[in-house]
Amino acid sequence: MTEQTNAAAIKALCKAQAAMPPAKTAATGLALLREPFPPHQISKLPKPTKQQTDDVKANFKAGIRCKVCGAWHHKDVVHLDYVGHAALTDRLLDCDPAWNWEPMALTPAGTPALDANGGMWIKLTVCGLTRLGYGDAGGKTGGDAVKETIGDCLRNAAMRFGAALDLWHKGDLHGDDDTGNGGAHTPPPPDPFDPTPEEKAREEYNLHEANVDREIRKIETITSMDELKAYWSGLLKEQTAVANDERIIAAKDGRKRALGIQAADPQNERSAPPPPAGPDENGQYEVRG
Ligand SMILES: [Zn+2]
Repeated sequence: MTEQTNAAAIKALCKAQAAMPPAKTAATGLALLREPFPPHQISKLPKPTKQQTDDVKANFKAGIRCKVCGAWHHKDVVHLDYVGHAALTDRLLDCDPAWNWEPMALTPAGTPALDANGGMWIKLTVCGLTRLGYGDAGGKTGGDAVKETIGDCLRNAAMRFGAALDLWHKGDLHGDDDTGNGGAHTPPPPDPFDPTPEEKAREEYNLHEANVDREIRKIETITSMDELKAYWSGLLKEQTAVANDERIIAAKDGRKRALGIQAADPQNERSAPPPPAGPDENGQYEVRG
């Protein structure tokens, strides 16, 4: 190759490079934490309106098994994108293998302390920088609640570093107040990591059905009007929703009728009917029965 053609080749190469966008150096450390998450690491969280939740609560069958998120909820529910615990941990490790979190406070037993709202404050340290985060179990209880709380804390603290900030923007920062990006369909909830109301509704539905079944069986064993009265006032006070269920009311009314018929039976002394009338003017007794 001559010097001239070499120079021409270099010139052409420079020109071609200049036309290309500058090669992006792969982000590392804290900058990497701000990089958007790939679609396969983004999960879907249903965010129903209050009306949709109430509809499904009132009638479990008003919901559908959602093909997007797998939960049971109203067919028109909007979904929010969120990053799950595993994907977030993966990213934190990529940013800083030595990342760490610790609770702000400990109980006397040495476990992370919850605040009066059942939430927890943590310190998240990435690349030597520490920021605070707060999370809760979103209504869950038991061992899962602890894991849920930790995941929620980490997402919240990582968000302070800019992790998945675009998703928080969609679900959180532009929530209730912003009607420009979705109008009436803007999902209302502020925290995209709340537990699903559908799950709660389903649990409540199942519990209600079980209670109704149990109380109907109980009603069928009641043997007197007094017992039925006492039972009913107790049920109204303690399980109003069950007492108002039409199946329970029907069972109660049915039992009341059955007991009333029993009470009217002549063999029952307390409410025995009056004795047969005396003979009529023809000396005949009224034939009963
Ligand atoms: Zn869904």
